[in-house]
Amino acid sequence: MKLRPPPMFACAFLALAAAYAAGFYATVWTDPEAAESRFDALRKGGYPGMAEGYGRRVIALRREEGVTDETLAPFKTKVAATAFDARRYRQSAALYEEALGSDWAAGLSEVERAILDDKLARARIIDRDIARAVSIYTEFLELSGDAASRTEEDGDHSMESFYAKLIASSGILFTEALKPTGNPEYFSGGRETKLAAARDMTKVGAFFALRNEGLYASAGLLSSALAIRKEILGADHPDTVQIALVLGPVYERMGRLEDAEHLYLDAFHAQEKAKGANSPELSLYIKLLAGVYEEQGRATEAQALNEHMRSLFRDAFGSQRYAANRVRDRRLDIDRPVSQQFPLKASYAPGDLVRAVDYIIPLSKNADLEEMTIRLAADPEEDPREANLPVRLAQLISLCRDESGERISLRSGYRAYTTQRDLYARIGAKGTVTPPGMSEHQTGLAADIDVDGRLMRQSDKTYQCFEENAFRFGFILSYPPGNNYLPGADSYEPWHWRYVGIRTAQLYREAGPIDKPQEFLAALPCYQQQAMTSAFTPAGETDICLEEPKIVAASTSAPAPETIKAPDENAAARKLNNARGGGRP
Ligand SMILES: [Zn+2]
Repeated sequence: MKLRPPPMFACAFLALAAAYAAGFYATVWTDPEAAESRFDALRKGGYPGMAEGYGRRVIALRREEGVTDETLAPFKTKVAATAFDARRYRQSAALYEEALGSDWAAGLSEVERAILDDKLARARIIDRDIARAVSIYTEFLELSGDAASRTEEDGDHSMESFYAKLIASSGILFTEALKPTGNPEYFSGGRETKLAAARDMTKVGAFFALRNEGLYASAGLLSSALAIRKEILGADHPDTVQIALVLGPVYERMGRLEDAEHLYLDAFHAQEKAKGANSPELSLYIKLLAGVYEEQGRATEAQALNEHMRSLFRDAFGSQRYAANRVRDRRLDIDRPVSQQFPLKASYAPGDLVRAVDYIIPLSKNADLEEMTIRLAADPEEDPREANLPVRLAQLISLCRDESGERISLRSGYRAYTTQRDLYARIGAKGTVTPPGMSEHQTGLAADIDVDGRLMRQSDKTYQCFEENAFRFGFILSYPPGNNYLPGADSYEPWHWRYVGIRTAQLYREAGPIDKPQEFLAALPCYQQQAMTSAFTPAGETDICLEEPKIVAASTSAPAPETIKAPDENAAARKLNNARGGGRP
């Protein structure tokens, strides 16, 4: 016969189970210890949604017991992480904010704090509170700039790259959140709040622009910043125009040439209104626009723009300016290329170093340091008290300080071969230090520029001012985006400006290739020849100075004074000039 459990047993069991469950439930809901262990169990078991409820209950019960927010803060971050896993992003962010706002957070290490800030920012992005997230990453950018300044001497770049990694890995979230791009709806608040968000977005967008995988995030942030500035400040405001210099190249790299064209065109018209139709500063925007037209195969329009710029230059600077002193500039080494393709000898040292402080150049460091010296590089044609590097650098800094309102100072001028060698030996592989002999600082012609106490960035207003005006004072940007002049993956250095003299800097803007300063300097005699005969290569045609190594080699070897007789220079020039589409590895 079959044994059946009497029904009475089953009922009793169920009753017992129910009573137990009720008791258990009552316990975990009223006893913080029990609730916390339930929270832990559910979290580990993979039920974040249920766990979060118990976590909140623990916080409430502890509060009733009189536990302070400071003591509760670490537990709150646990619940915040659980809420994030449960996709309750707003609740997660609110809990992180509470924990980070308590006194407990003041005792965290820099790294611990940054990791929590990063989690908070991620929750905010997904919850579409872009402005708050961007402000956190902007702070990371500032901190990483501070870290870079702090650690240059001791050679530890770990904090700098730690922050950089946190920001970079947020790019994908921004990309998702900002689809479709340029939507200012994500930003609530009044005029000042929105403008602050736009400023932060420009900084973070410029950071993302440095990496190919960050282009979409960059375009999203920058076009949103542009939309805000257009709406509040108007299309012609300098802050609106500033975006063109950061966003335009991003669009070009994404192949969005039409968008880049509109951006540059707007910037050009705005500057035309602000600075007058004949201002040589317009040349920056003309050149950018002509570059896009060339990329689109619209050679006639590009050529028309080039002609327009050259007529502006003729009116502003005269037509005979390239005829004089080509040989003398070479002998003074002022237009000498320096890179891994054109290394300097260990014995190379300039003979006319002066203290920058004596020329009223604001300094980042002690005036007596070697790095605070720079070449005089006086132009023998003109009054040497006025026509020299430090005077012109001081003028450029003064102009841009007035225009940007930012604090500008010299971080690094001259560096001897031995200084560079020691620095490289200490920091070399880890950091961003150039190997000895490949640094323009050894010539005494280069200046690393600080803005507000850290190295200049593309998103600084000072950068815009330098891009527009530096050539008028004889300076050019040595390491543009994507160059291959220094060893390493990316040596874009928006802070590094190099003196080549006014005539040569003008010629670079007028006739030189975009973003290839070293190729330009290597082929300078060819460009000077073209300038004197007004026979510049027409837009859309192959740049003869870059593509005909024979001409370059012949011209550089002919009058070569002994200071520039590096044995492999001509070979290097050929290598550089033959690298088609070079400069963008
Ligand atoms: Zn530098």
